[in-house]
Amino acid sequence: MAESGATSREWSRRWELAAGGLRTEMPKTIFISCGQYTDAEKQLGKQISEMVRTLTDCEPFFAEEVQDLNGLDANILSALHECVGFITVMHPRGEIRRSNDFIVRASVWIEQEIAIATYIQQVEKRTLPIIAFKHKSVGREGIRDLLHLNPFEFTDETEILTELPKRLAAWRTLKPSGVELQLTSKTAGRQQEHDIRRLEITLVNASNRVIEKYEFEARLPSALLKHWSTNYPTEVRCNVPGLRCFRFDQNGRGALRPHDGLRYPITFEYCTVCAVPEHESRLVGNALVSEMVLGATAWVEGNEYVVEKTIKQLAIEREGNR
Ligand SMILES: [Zn+2]
Repeated sequence: MAESGATSREWSRRWELAAGGLRTEMPKTIFISCGQYTDAEKQLGKQISEMVRTLTDCEPFFAEEVQDLNGLDANILSALHECVGFITVMHPRGEIRRSNDFIVRASVWIEQEIAIATYIQQVEKRTLPIIAFKHKSVGREGIRDLLHLNPFEFTDETEILTELPKRLAAWRTLKPSGVELQLTSKTAGRQQEHDIRRLEITLVNASNRVIEKYEFEARLPSALLKHWSTNYPTEVRCNVPGLRCFRFDQNGRGALRPHDGLRYPITFEYCTVCAVPEHESRLVGNALVSEMVLGATAWVEGNEYVVEKTIKQLAIEREGNR
């Protein structure tokens, strides 16, 4: 990470690109719940997104033009479910007559998103920091009455853009809320004069919920397993030549408790010495082996997590962890 000027987010983006667009970790997102009725409101949503991008290590989620057509579609619900922070801006949406007075309402979409954020905080007991802005004219009603949103009241949108950076300062170190799939390598002694390595695949549950079910696939180049003639009961058919695939689930491993990793990581011993193709020189052979890719996919609660690493990358990380 010596290259100057690159933030950690840029590095993770580059890594994602290098890995063919595969995610190596859960992206942390901040959900922006902001009106999209007028051009000025849309513009504000974009400016808030930009502030989130530059002032935190999170990505903004601003579902521009989605809400008015589909309301709370599946994208928005899952973004709410995964977000690590929630920013809401309540713009006035006109007066509503009540029995003996009038009240100014906010957008129904915004109110619904606030209701879901409340559910996450109070029923799921997940930490979800909220920054709220409310136009002075918008009344208090609905579930917001139960919440301690402490909204910052504005009359002009420029006030939001002045206040938000101060509030975001506290959000620089938000933790990811979800699940992380990890691939690491350890030394595992010597067998027949060959240095053996152990690949460990584990799942870390950084959320506040119990994960009862999960499924994994591990993918290893056949050459790395040549040292052994073992049968692997977990092996499944693989259509990619030169690759072997294995499947696992929660059976025998149990539920993944909140803020915990797998009790028994999935492990594979591999040998890089045997992996060197016979017809290649030592030098070329080692270079080829160092570029071999080991991969794993986990399916958890309908989400897919993918991580892929080369032999070289695993070795660098292993040395770094010594
Ligand atoms: Zn070997």
